[in-house]
Amino acid sequence: MAEAGYLDTLNDNQRAAVEFGVGAEGLPPPLLVIAGAGSGKTMTLAHRVAHLLVNGADPQRILLMTFSRRAATELTRRVERITAKAMGKGVVAEALSWAGTFHAIGARILREHALSIGLHPDFSIHDREDSADLMNLCRNGLGFSSTERRFPAKGTCLAIYSRAVNSGDPLDEVLRDHFPWCAEWAEELKQLFGAYVTAKQEQNVLDYDDLLLAWAEVMSDEGFAAHIGGAWDHVLIDEYQDTNRLQARILMALKPDGRGLTVVGDDAQSIYAFRAATVRNILDFPDAFSPRADVITLDRNYRSTQPILEAANAVIGLARERYTKNLWTTRASDARPRIVTVATEADQARHFVDRILEDRETGTRLKDQAVLFRTSSHSVQLEAELTRRNVPYVKFGGLKFLDSAHVKDLLAVLRLARNPRDRVAGFRVLQLMPGIGPKAAGRILDALDLAADPLTVLREIPPPARAAADWPAFVEAMAARADWPAGLGLARAWYEPHLDRLHEDAETRHADLMQLEQIAAGFPSAEAFLTELTLDPPDATSDRAGKPLQDEDYLILSTIHSAKGQEWRSVYLLNAVDGCIPSDLGTGSSHELEEERRLLYVAMTRAKDHLTLGLPLRFYVSQQGRNGDRHVYATRTRFIPKAMLGRFEQVTWSPLPRPGATGPAPQRIDVSARMRQMWG
Ligand code: ATP
Ligand code: MG
Repeated sequence: MAEAGYLDTLNDNQRAAVEFGVGAEGLPPPLLVIAGAGSGKTMTLAHRVAHLLVNGADPQRILLMTFSRRAATELTRRVERITAKAMGKGVVAEALSWAGTFHAIGARILREHALSIGLHPDFSIHDREDSADLMNLCRNGLGFSSTERRFPAKGTCLAIYSRAVNSGDPLDEVLRDHFPWCAEWAEELKQLFGAYVTAKQEQNVLDYDDLLLAWAEVMSDEGFAAHIGGAWDHVLIDEYQDTNRLQARILMALKPDGRGLTVVGDDAQSIYAFRAATVRNILDFPDAFSPRADVITLDRNYRSTQPILEAANAVIGLARERYTKNLWTTRASDARPRIVTVATEADQARHFVDRILEDRETGTRLKDQAVLFRTSSHSVQLEAELTRRNVPYVKFGGLKFLDSAHVKDLLAVLRLARNPRDRVAGFRVLQLMPGIGPKAAGRILDALDLAADPLTVLREIPPPARAAADWPAFVEAMAARADWPAGLGLARAWYEPHLDRLHEDAETRHADLMQLEQIAAGFPSAEAFLTELTLDPPDATSDRAGKPLQDEDYLILSTIHSAKGQEWRSVYLLNAVDGCIPSDLGTGSSHELEEERRLLYVAMTRAKDHLTLGLPLRFYVSQQGRNGDRHVYATRTRFIPKAMLGRFEQVTWSPLPRPGATGPAPQRIDVSARMRQMWG
């Protein structure tokens, strides 16, 4: 029999949210939990799922949507632990098989129902890079890349397209509000996007946005929506503040009366408006149903110490929007968050690593510490320092395992074998063979396009002379599509000689591919493997991309965006300076600026016991091709104005001179003068 003890740790409001409508007749009415950082939203969600299970809910009929696969895994593990405590034998995490991101769930549904909704079940999924490449093919096809005036780059075209799709706004509006410098191209862009959509259809591919768009579209058929929505009794969503209009549409179609729906989030932490997420979703949620959804707020923060929470509250307190939550904590501490002024980014890296290692000596594992940054490229110096000092780390939100050329090559072989109409994969793979350039590749792909039986075509087509020797092995790799995971081995066997030819560091790359095969072995089919990897690729690690670190202790490096929802005992933030946060790119409009402020708030509220902000007086900016890269002098982030400094402990740090160092001093700026200037 269930033991109620598993709910004892919850406070009254958390408990109310967990028990809301459970055990009553029918499905519970819609519920919104809107609350500040560290107030236990995610924990409450986990308890609610556990409570439903304890009360007899079928795990197969629960849909859990989170922001990342990692978050989904953590949530289901937590549910397993709670139910174990409640019932002796827990509901294992795997039983909650409908847990993942919106995109991954969308891919699964579209695949399952492909034939009935006019898709081919073998469709490939393009990641952002593939999508940009296809956009480029279309651009070239229309002759836009060669016009005199500079047509927007492929990445920009994709960003515009993506925003229009996810926001549902007309193109003209998207251009006016977000890409004014591209507005003169409105007509051409419309044409381009039309061609892009056609190309995707012809090639049997869906891009990242299509997973939501197609899902939302098929849900407009009420019968189908009822069928899909009826598959789950309960739909629970974390981080609801960062969903976009398509996601809200899907949700409303899944549960039109809201029954069984629970969403949690924090409007003060909405940080994905730049990808068309809208905080309106969470704010409008209560009124989206009749009768209105119930709203529960939580105001006790369990994560951070008082001084950290007060500093974070002060930062968000200056926001233009008023966030209603006033968080409090009982976690007293003498340690104020620190602002450390250093001369350069290199010093910042040295100091951070010194401190991190000192703390490890005194018992704080590396895993309990994290270094955060606004943009992935900010961590370069830190990564160099960590490598020099042999500190293992995993980097979230940066370059992924999948981004390396050789991994993409091999996956493209697999993709092409499954879907011979996928031209981005086709161009990539065919051109690996000497003697095959874009023209020859195009010809071969045209032939495949029309073929009822692509393999026969490949066997019969005369390959360009220089590729002739390699051709039979290639055809064999293509033929192995049905064979899983052996097909991946065949693909690798064909690819490896090319790898040796193309890359100097072939050895480590070989190891990556072996690693990829190991990962693949855990998937039931090529399509499941490709889908998962495309949607949520493994993170890069210090050693070699993808190397599993298992029990080893390692430091987390993460962009602020990817640190969402997580917490560490000790958090370091790189470059708390204007130009980094707010980013130079984020100061265009007051909306963007406010989003940058919320980002800083998210970063600060990740810390439990210690928070350190780095303030290098000189930092490096990448100008993205404009005038090259350069050093600039920095000022403290505008989000921490002078009047707020009392909440921080201010420290300056400079390295001891290296023994035996001669020659000019390493810093050519007068550090103390700069420091005086900064602090008034
Ligand atoms: P975020 O907004 O950052 O996603 P959150 O609101 O989801 O934060 P959680 O991550 O669920 O917050 O919880 C923050 C921390 O507080 C966790 O370590 C959690 O275990 C702890 N916590 C939450 N509620 C309680 C409670 N009632 N008793 C003890 N600890 C709690
Ligand atoms: Mg959370």
